[in-house]
Order: sequence, then structure tokens, then C-alpha cells
Amino acid sequence: MSDDELHRRLASYEGRAATVSGRGPDPVDPAMIRHWCEVMGDTNPAYSGPEAIAPPAMLQVWIMSGLSGPTARSAVFDELFSLLDAAGCTAIVATDCEQDYLRPLRPGDVITFDSVIESVSPRKDTRLGAGHFITTRTEIRAGGELAGVHRFRVLKYAPAARPAREAAERPRPVINRDNAGFWEGVAGRRLLIQRCDGCGRLRFPWLPGCADCGSARWTPIEAQGTGTVHSYVVMHHPPFPAFDPPYAVGLIELAEGVRMISNITGVRPPEVRIGMPVRLEFLRAGGEQWLPVFRAAEEGP
Ligand code: ZN
Repeated sequence: MSDDELHRRLASYEGRAATVSGRGPDPVDPAMIRHWCEVMGDTNPAYSGPEAIAPPAMLQVWIMSGLSGPTARSAVFDELFSLLDAAGCTAIVATDCEQDYLRPLRPGDVITFDSVIESVSPRKDTRLGAGHFITTRTEIRAGGELAGVHRFRVLKYAPAARPAREAAERPRPVINRDNAGFWEGVAGRRLLIQRCDGCGRLRFPWLPGCADCGSARWTPIEAQGTGTVHSYVVMHHPPFPAFDPPYAVGLIELAEGVRMISNITGVRPPEVRIGMPVRLEFLRAGGEQWLPVFRAAEEGP
């Protein structure tokens, strides 16, 4: 079927019923209003007390059928969707909604509604893929009186083929005045920790001053590069670009006594153990970016 022919068929659904004699599953209800206001952080006094009205933006709340409740959706609407599915537009995303408020809703109002398929657009190319926008217009009544109009638009589309993912690079470190010395060390393949000039205490990660004596003066010293796994996690999910799960993230206790977070390499993640000796190495993480990581110094059993 050509695009034109498909659109002609889709357009023949305009003006037809999408929902017939819908009924809100519950009357307008103070508990639901309170939950909404809490979630939205809306403290408007109009929405509580004996004279409360429902926030107008809750309009759609009162007509939602819930996850498993019956729906009043028409067979015609299902037919329109089947036609789009058959044309390859199998994916759907809600794009926007507009609402007109004609009279406030109050606790106890019984809600009824009807909706029509207002428009089906010609084929549009979008970043998600090519498809058709479908707009439904729902008239919402309270006690039989028109209280509001809810217009809802979705895009039903054929998902575009995803471009092959570019080889992702790890996130760049954020380098600032306080940690620049550390990253200068890494660029020269040296792991530098700070030694306080006031009290001699070693510290990592880099900080502008000593938490013990308050001195703002320090001397960088090079870690010898040995340590043990103090603790660790194995990352499975969520996936991040440039990281290939599962991988082990360790809290490494350096021989100098300070701890740092890094990857543990050279061992399968399930074989990482607390107390396992590790040795510093530098991993090239794309371009001129190097990162200190720790390789298991012994193979697993
Ligand atoms: Zn100090």
C-alpha cells in the first residue's frame, strides 16, 4: 500500500468514536486529590477542606481505566491501530496533551466521557522513525455536564534502524584546582597522593586542605602501586557506554594506607576477593586519557 493510500484509509477514521460511554472508575475523591497534591508539591488551599475542588490538571486522572480495569475503547479505535501495526508502525509514544477546563470537579462528582479520533496526520519523519500522529479528543462530564476537554496525541511509528553505536569512550574526569595535581600525575603514569605539610598525614582523594590539622599546604608523593582489595562490587546493571558488564569496582587500600576506588582487572569478576593483592597499572581509556586501575596480583584459585 502506498503512503497516500494508507493515509487515505487512516483519515477515514477521523471523527469516529474512540471511546463510547466511558465511566470514571471512581467518583472524584479527596484521597486521590491529596495524593496528587503531595506528589506535585501543590499546597494551594483550594484543593483541601470542605469546599475543596480537584486540581484542574487532574482531569485525565478521573478517566484512567487502571492497569487491569475494563476500558470503553471502541472496536474502531483498535482497528485503526491494527492498520498501523500492519503498515509497520508497531511502536507508540505519547507526544503531548491539551486540556480545556469548563467547570471545577468536586469530591463526589461522577465522571462520564466520550472520545473521538479527531485527526490522523499524513506520514511524518521523526527522529524515532516515520509514522502518523493520532489525536483523540475526550469530552469529560460531571453529573452529565461538560467539565473539560482532554486532547491527547500519540505517534504510532516504525522504529528507525539504530545507527551502529560508536565506540564509546569513558566519561572524562572533571579536573579542577583541587585535583589537577592528581591528574597531572596520572598523565605521567604516576599515582600521586597528598602528604600534609602540617601533620604529615597522607590523604586521598585529593582535597584542598587537611581534615586533621587544617593545613592548606601539602606535598605530593608517589604511591608505590601495591595494595589490597578492601571491598568491591561487581557491576551487572545498568549498562553504561564504554563499560562492558560484568566488571569489578574495587575500594583499593594502598600500601601507604589510603584507599581509592578503581577497576579491578586481570581476574574474572566472580573471582575478586576481599584482601586480594593488587598492583597498579595504567589503562589507556581513549585518546590521551589514562586511568589508574588495579590488576589482580595473583590468579584466582
Ligand atoms: Zn595535616
